[in-house]
Amino acid sequence: MKDLPARRLLLVHAHPDDESINNGATMARYAAEGAHVTLVTCTRGEEGEVIPPELAHLAAGRDDTLGAHRVGELADAMRELGVTDHRFLGGPGRYRDSGMTGTEQNHRPGAFWGAPVDEAAGHLVEVIRSVRPQVMVTYDPEGGYGHPDHIQAHRVAMRAADLAADPAYRPASGAPHTIAKIYWNRVPRAVVEAGFARLRAEAPAAFPGVADVQDVPGVVGETLITAEIGGSDAAAAKTAAMRAHATQIAVDGPYFALSNGLGQPVLTTEYYQLVRGSAEPGDDGRERDLFAGLPAGAGAPGAQA
Ligand SMILES: [Zn+2]
Repeated sequence: MKDLPARRLLLVHAHPDDESINNGATMARYAAEGAHVTLVTCTRGEEGEVIPPELAHLAAGRDDTLGAHRVGELADAMRELGVTDHRFLGGPGRYRDSGMTGTEQNHRPGAFWGAPVDEAAGHLVEVIRSVRPQVMVTYDPEGGYGHPDHIQAHRVAMRAADLAADPAYRPASGAPHTIAKIYWNRVPRAVVEAGFARLRAEAPAAFPGVADVQDVPGVVGETLITAEIGGSDAAAAKTAAMRAHATQIAVDGPYFALSNGLGQPVLTTEYYQLVRGSAEPGDDGRERDLFAGLPAGAGAPGAQA
């Protein structure tokens, strides 16, 4: 890991497809700019529902082979985004998808939700100390919308950031490293409402109905947003990456649906709340670069943190 690019971005997600839906434009932009983009996915998404009827047999209630299939979908999505460094926390299959809140899968042996946070964070510390990212992106404390694996991914990511910086924590796992800036995924309510208004007006035939603002993770008022990234350049890559997750996402033009079939707008600009580190905003109070304000090459692999 000695020859990584100067700028390094780490994203921590719960399931394959979360990264493309939440951060596809951001990942495509930084990969295209030559930054090192590392994705850590905490589970293989074994409990997801399957959209294409011909693949329904993969589901947990039948063959239970969806996890392995989604590893392939994720690899295809990463090719679309230009991201080469994507890993599963502790290795593929180390932690299993915990299912939706209140289901018996929450308590299944190996479920990510039941993993001790410090144990799971230990795997992420190894990645952080090896790649030495200046910027980390993950979910807010509610996991955006309350899925147990998203909440757990938040807890593990934040804990790992603290442990990675602590010289007393497992010195054998690498030199300590402090992540300079940590962002949570957010979406401004006004942007989502405008997207749904366009969707209702166009009423694409592909979707039998329209989702609700409450179905979108991480929706907040404008005041919490500190950064926005994306726009039309990265939109095509983001949409292509979402299409690669074919068991989970149906894409139609600038819209998509999850397994409930309800249409949602694809958000080609992505929004963030800085929760650690200092912002370097423009005149409108928002950053347009997650690395803004950071010295080039700071915290390079092999350098002292
Ligand atoms: Zn998810």
